[in-house]
Amino acid sequence: MRTEVLGVKIDNYTIQETVMRIREAVEKKEQTWVVTANPELIFAAGRDARLKQLINRAQIVTPDGVGVVWAAKRLGHPLPERVTGIDLIESLFPVAAERKWRIFFLGSKPGVAELAARKVTEQYPGIVCQTQHGYFQPEEQPEIIERIQTFQPQLLLAGLGAPRQEFWIASHLDLATVSIGVGGSFDALAGLNKRAPQWIRNIRLEWLYRLLKQPQRIKRQMVLPKFAWRVIKQGKKEEQNHTRRSR
Ligand code: UDP
Repeated sequence: MRTEVLGVKIDNYTIQETVMRIREAVEKKEQTWVVTANPELIFAAGRDARLKQLINRAQIVTPDGVGVVWAAKRLGHPLPERVTGIDLIESLFPVAAERKWRIFFLGSKPGVAELAARKVTEQYPGIVCQTQHGYFQPEEQPEIIERIQTFQPQLLLAGLGAPRQEFWIASHLDLATVSIGVGGSFDALAGLNKRAPQWIRNIRLEWLYRLLKQPQRIKRQMVLPKFAWRVIKQGKKEEQNHTRRSR
């Protein structure tokens, strides 16, 4: 079942259920695109019909952040939990290691994806990784694509920032069985951006922790009140339609 937030369809699955769906897709060799949709991306999709159509074509769209979970609840379709890119891939690694998947890490500043991949393969020796930083020139792209094609990854993780990674994945779905847009996850895996301690995540204040650590994020987070306002408006509209229908 899917919940719609500002026109973007969000899946109603826990992290473990999402991992299971991805495992099945790899086993059945079903090309699958996973969008981890945070409020900024959903808000951007609300303003860009092409982006919205694109995201709604993805096989799996996860609620990336407390803002999306709040929105779904407000709209009367509660979701079981948030499914962020980093939580999802960290839960996927043990499954990938057991099955010896090839994973391609695409994105982040030079050296970061490499460091992230090294840490992941140290912890999960079954996984085979290749990497490419996300600041390549257009003329370098054909060589990168060829490299990914030769590698034949089960999983392609694209951390190019949203929505660039969504546009990139949408036009390169045939490069891997499952492709996931993961934002700044390689920075976190490499230990550059430390994640908030678990107790802060538990009280749903990871966004505040990130803001205090990286004050430059304030510009992005300015979108959050606008996102909330549009969700409230969507809720009111749905309520009115419901009352009209039941009269
Ligand atoms: N990035 C990239 N190429 C670019 C621009 C950004 O690889 O041209 C990377 C950037 O280094 C970072 C990620 O994309 O690792 C975006 O991280 P951000 O924290 O903005 O994403 P979020 O997780 O919040 O969506």
